[in-house]
Amino acid sequence: MNPDQIRIVLVEPSHPGNIGAVARAMKTMGLGKLVLVAPEKFPDEQATWRAVWANDVLEAAEVVDSLDAAIADCGFVVGTCARDQRLPWPVLDPRRAAVEMATNSKRGEVAILFGREDNGLSNEELMRCNLHLAIPTSDAYSSLNLAMAVQIVCYELHMLQTGDELPQDPNEGWDEPLATQENIERFYVHLEETLSQIGFLNPAAPRKLMPRLRRLYNRLGMDEMELNILRGILTETQKRSEPVDWDRQREGKA
Ligand code: SAH
Repeated sequence: MNPDQIRIVLVEPSHPGNIGAVARAMKTMGLGKLVLVAPEKFPDEQATWRAVWANDVLEAAEVVDSLDAAIADCGFVVGTCARDQRLPWPVLDPRRAAVEMATNSKRGEVAILFGREDNGLSNEELMRCNLHLAIPTSDAYSSLNLAMAVQIVCYELHMLQTGDELPQDPNEGWDEPLATQENIERFYVHLEETLSQIGFLNPAAPRKLMPRLRRLYNRLGMDEMELNILRGILTETQKRSEPVDWDRQREGKA
């Protein structure tokens, strides 16, 4: 495991006190990389006050304006959420998820996303993830305070780091780095464009095709070379097909 390659990402946190408490939770568990996506108030004295001896983590925190910017260079992204999603996604509890994060941190940058205090992460944001992490709770109330959720996840990572060795890693010695989110997003744009061009995806009625394809590809943990091969296949497919004119098709049906 490489803790320097694991970042905690808070998406649009609204209470600066929570940001400080998150910094403290991280530092107590040996993590130091905090990224804030469009925080409502930061820096703020509430944050500084709640961080106590973890002000170095706060001061080093990176503030960005979009989730894209927060995870562009990441090879493995985990989204935390309490609720069941409409489209089921691979989901693990913190202990098992920590093993996945620790092993992937040896192959690339890992991001763990935490959502807004009032609304959590959106479906679009959750669809950016390779894995979801849900902290098991009472059925009566499943939503933890943001910093407490961060504490539990960081604790499990810390236990792995200080405790027994990680289970055997089947990808040990892999020859290519994990594909980055930036390149994977480009691939999805290219894929959607190609599927529309060949008449497989109707832009006016896309249904759940792209979310399902995202879920499929995000399960794989593609490396850069594999992603390039897929991009190459799409480019050749586009060259060899006459674009379907969806506007015309619609008029024809009307
Ligand atoms: N009302 C929001 C809850 C937000 S709590 C909702 O229903 O989605 C703020 C953040 O803390 C969540 O976005 C998530 O990142 C984390 N969190 C809270 N409870 C959690 C749980 N049981 N499992 C995993 N993450 C949780």
